[in-house]
Amino acid sequence: MAKTKRGRVLWSLPSRGRGTCPVCGSTRIKLLYSQTKTDGTMLKVCKKCSKAVQSRVDQVTV
Ligand SMILES: [Zn+2]
Repeated sequence: MAKTKRGRVLWSLPSRGRGTCPVCGSTRIKLLYSQTKTDGTMLKVCKKCSKAVQSRVDQVTV
């Protein structure tokens, strides 16, 4: 399987895979992981927050 979280593939992503993580608020961090809120909203989150508990994700307001 191709690596989708490192290397040149990142450069083809919007903003090169970087942005502000909605969960922890880190800026210019790589947002390569998806979290789904209980209401079904998909969020792109950083590596740290890919392991965040569901209740923490649900507190995010977009
Ligand atoms: Zn984060």
